[in-house]
Parts: sequence; C-alpha cells; structure tokens
Amino acid sequence: MDHEDLRIWSKRAADWAAEYHATLRDRPVRAPLVPGAVARQLPPAPPDAPEPMETIWGDFERIVPDGMTHWQHPRFFAYFPANAAPASMLAEQLVNAMASNALIWQTSPAATEVEQVMVDWLRQAVGLPDDFVGTIHDSATNATLSAVLTMREQALGYQGLEAGLSGGPVLRFYASAETHSSVDKAIRVAGIGQRNLVKVATDGDRAMTGAALQAAIAADRAAGLHPAGVILCAGGTSVGAFDRIADCVAVAKAEGLPVHVDAAWAGSAMICPEFRDLWAGVEGADSIVFNPHKWLGAQFDCSVQFLKDPGAQVRTLGLRPTYLETAGREEIVNFNEWTVPLGRRFRALKLWFVLRAYGLDNLRGRIRNHVAWARAARDQLAALPGIEIVTEPRLSLFSFALKDDAATEDLLNRINDDSRIYLTQTRVDGRFAIRVQVGSFDCREEDVMFIAKTVQEMLASCSSVPLPSR
Ligand SMILES: *Cc1c(COP(=O)(O)O)cnc(C)c1O
Repeated sequence: MDHEDLRIWSKRAADWAAEYHATLRDRPVRAPLVPGAVARQLPPAPPDAPEPMETIWGDFERIVPDGMTHWQHPRFFAYFPANAAPASMLAEQLVNAMASNALIWQTSPAATEVEQVMVDWLRQAVGLPDDFVGTIHDSATNATLSAVLTMREQALGYQGLEAGLSGGPVLRFYASAETHSSVDKAIRVAGIGQRNLVKVATDGDRAMTGAALQAAIAADRAAGLHPAGVILCAGGTSVGAFDRIADCVAVAKAEGLPVHVDAAWAGSAMICPEFRDLWAGVEGADSIVFNPHKWLGAQFDCSVQFLKDPGAQVRTLGLRPTYLETAGREEIVNFNEWTVPLGRRFRALKLWFVLRAYGLDNLRGRIRNHVAWARAARDQLAALPGIEIVTEPRLSLFSFALKDDAATEDLLNRINDDSRIYLTQTRVDGRFAIRVQVGSFDCREEDVMFIAKTVQEMLASCSSVPLPSR
C-alpha cells in the first residue's frame, strides 16, 4: 500500500464512517460477545507476504464492528462519555496524515502554539482567571500523576529526583473516598505509598469539608508526618461528588499545601456559568485537570491540565539533554517538559476544530440538554414500581436500585443483555446501584426517555421469570 492507494482507501473509510454513524441506533450498544470470540477469528501468526487491502478491509468489516462496544451510540449511558464530534474526527484525520511528533517546539511549532492558544480558549470557556496556563495530556491519569510528582518534589525541595525517596520524610496526601482510582494509582506510582493517601471522611453530601481536611492534616502533623498536598474531587466517577472546593483550598493554603483538582468529567460542564457554583473556589487551586475527551466532543485522547505556575512541574518533569535543545531558543515552550512522556500527539487541532465548528453556544446547549434530560429520566424511573433513586442527579449523573442488591444486579444484566441501552453499576454506601449518565454528543431527548421505557420492560420480564436463587 502506498500513498496513492491511501487516497482511495481514505475515501472508502470516510464513506464507511458515515454509514456506521447513520446506523448506530440499530446496533447493540454493548458488544454481545464472550471473551476470546474476536481473537479466535484472527490467524495466530503474522503473514510473510503482503495481503491485498480488499481482503484486509473485508476482514475488518466482518470481525471488528460487531466486536465493539459503541461509545458514540446515542444510547450509551454507561461509565462517562468519550465523545467524538464529527469536527474532531476530521481534525484527527489531518493529524494522522501529518503524523508528527510534537515533543519539542522545533519538531512541530504549530502543534505547540495551537496547544497554547487552545488551552487558553478553554480556560476562558470554563471561567478560570488568566493566571492559569496549561498543557494537554493523553489522560487525566497522567495529568494527576504529573501533579502528584510535582507536589512530592515541592515537599522534598526537589531532592527526591536526585536522591530517591528512601530515608526521606513520610509524605502525606489528602483526598476523599469519592476520588477516582487514578489518584490512588498516581500515589502508588509516585512512590508515596497507598497508606499515605489519607481518605478523608465526607459529609452527608459526599463532600470533603474544610474542617475534616484540617483535622486530618493536624493529626498527621501531631504524629510527625509531612503533609505534602491535597487532591480535590470535582465530579466523582461513582455518583458525581464534589468536595467543598473553596473551604478545602483555604485550609490547604493556610497549611502551605498545593492543591490539585480532578474535574475530569465535570470540567466540561463548566462552560455553562450556571454550573460553576459546584466548583466555586477552584481558582485557588494550583493544578486542575479536565477531559475535553469525555463530555465536550474532542475525542480521546485530550486531557487538559491548567497550572497556575508551570515552573514547579517543569522543574520536576523537564529534562533538556543536548539532543532536545533548539539552538538559540532557550525560552521556547517544549511541552514534553510539562508531562511524563517525551513523544506527544498534536491533540490541540481537534479542540480548534470542535470549538470553531460548534461554538460555545452549541456545546453549552448540548450539555444543558443532557442535564435536563437526565432529571426527566430520573423522574420517570422514580415513578416505576420498586425503583428507588439512590443518588440524585449531579449534573447529568444519578443512580437507582431495587430494594435488594441481587435483584438490582439481575435487572442491570437484563438491561445490558437487551442491549438497546447500556448502563453500568457502582456501590453507594455498600449498596449495589445502577448508574445513569447522559452525555452522548448526538443523543436526543427520545434516546434518554428510552431508559425508563427499557427498565419498565425489563422489570416486567423480571416478574415473569423467577430470580436466580440466592
Ligand atoms: C475518567 C476520570 C478519570 C480518568 O480519566 P483518564 O483520562 O481515562 O485517565 C479521572 N478522574 C475522574 C473524576 C474521571 O471521571
């Protein structure tokens, strides 16, 4: 295959994509497969001779689409969304065609400079003050890891990088039990140790309060441990919890501790001013992560980290060996020095396309619809016999259950085996609950109203078929 062939096959891929999206509603949302079903269809060894593209294409069509869970399906209500607006897909095609590596300014000046401007557009869009700059990571996991490594080095006076961690003080970090597992992972990978991530008890609203944070820090200081940083939850993955950001930031500042805020999902909603109360006080944070690749429409991967002062993070993660210097330009931004990996994709182009092709008004309208439709779906579900709302909508996320866990689990399995909608589960104070999040870029009101309709049908099928014995 050469570039002339690519011209032809790219057109075919574009037609395939249009057809795929036009028929998504007719596909099962979740792949109805057993593990191994796809692998069994592939030859066990690679070919020695080239194969015709027509054959490869045929195998793709035969094996892959039916083996996928369709994240762009308008009735995907599981996990969180991973939206890909058409304008984002187009930008990614162009990025693919250039296939550059934006590791330093010199290797892709446009990628670096579009990234700087797009981070600033998003800063304005979510209402952050102009003393924040930022960068784009592949994932919130890596953004949070970068923030934790930075806070660790700030606490160690940048000695950990050279001397390692053994023999140093026991560093302590604080987060609520509602924070995402990526925070635990960052703490583990950064050599802090899981037991030094203090999970501060939350209030009745699943929020870490300033008082609870203060008490946890005081207890550690009294025990001779070294508080090093605070990670706040702005839109938890389980049920959408928000810590009391302003109060916790005030406590952290008084204690001289840096603050990282994880708004991976909810950050997108902050383009709507009416939701910003949820993270009031966020401008006091040192680092904030949010994923345009979740709810905004710039497809995976695109995770923005805002930083009040990038200096500490660049001092922690940046290395500039001779082969990465740009002669005579020491002042330029080399974004690899802000992140863990060296190589980096041109992720900002899809933001540029999405923000221009839809405009903030259209994107705000979509998010407002999702929030309103989620509330309506909550009311419809609450009216069904036996259904209890376990957590009320936070933005567009809520959860429901039947009285007993086994019955709820059985209901969820029936819903997903039916596969016209896709929902996932969580535990709320030990209780098994079904999560609903509304956020698919192209979902319509009738798609969301389909949730209660499906649940009602599955409840009817539950009562006609006995539940498995427990
Ligand atoms: C999704 C999510 C993450 C992890 O995001 P990745 O980009 O997949 O690493 C972290 N925190 C929260 C609150 C999330 O919703």
